[in-house]
Amino acid sequence: MRKKLVIGNWKLHGGLARNEALLLGIRGSDAVARIDAAVCPPFPYFQQAVELLRGTSVTVGAQDLSAYREGAYTGEVAGEMLADLGCRWVIIGHSERRQLFGETDAVVAAKVGAALRAGLVPVLCVGESREQRESGAAEAVVAAQLEAVFSAVGAKALSGVVVAYEPIWAIGTGLTATPDQAQSMHLFIRNLLQRIGVDAMGVRILYGGSVNAGNAARLFDEKDIDGALVGGASLQVDGFLAICRAASAAVTIE
Ligand code: PEP
Repeated sequence: MRKKLVIGNWKLHGGLARNEALLLGIRGSDAVARIDAAVCPPFPYFQQAVELLRGTSVTVGAQDLSAYREGAYTGEVAGEMLADLGCRWVIIGHSERRQLFGETDAVVAAKVGAALRAGLVPVLCVGESREQRESGAAEAVVAAQLEAVFSAVGAKALSGVVVAYEPIWAIGTGLTATPDQAQSMHLFIRNLLQRIGVDAMGVRILYGGSVNAGNAARLFDEKDIDGALVGGASLQVDGFLAICRAASAAVTIE
């Protein structure tokens, strides 16, 4: 069964007072009752989110982790440390980390391994640029990103991953992939996972890229879209809950 999953990626936003208002707004809502919902705050606010969401069904994830477990790696945060604090998910390979912080497929694969070792669920982001889509290379790009992780961790481990298809041209731009475009790529990803030996029918594939209250329902109606990774709209209670409500109204795939 693939229960819908909505994850808010707060990126580099937040402050104690703002977070509290957002978290209290989310925790009191019935919009999150029938789905899996999570927030991914910046590291310093992780504990605040865990505490304010304690006793609710909303879980907390991280936006990144170290590929290393411990040692002389200044500035790094290990998966085991996050797990200690109650972390459930970790976003890995977001296009902003790939583009702005030079994360290669090899680094992404190592981080997926580190997350699984720590008992966290990796939310593995893949997606093509506008130029790559326009030149017809979108599927090849996404396939290469997935295969790099597969080569490093194998099919069994990949079965424990959530995949987030996030076309780079749709992130933070207000441009959303059409439901057809997104569904077509999600089906491509599922078929590819199946071909390489992953039990793909059980893998949740999220769509990310300017998801909001107005477009979420149509996206969630698509058969292979199992939820969303949400950036901008996850910073407002109403926007995030409207997306969760749309996910609740969509069919869970048995
Ligand atoms: C994201 O950063 O993962 C994202 C999807 O951002 P936005 O919803 O703002 O496009």
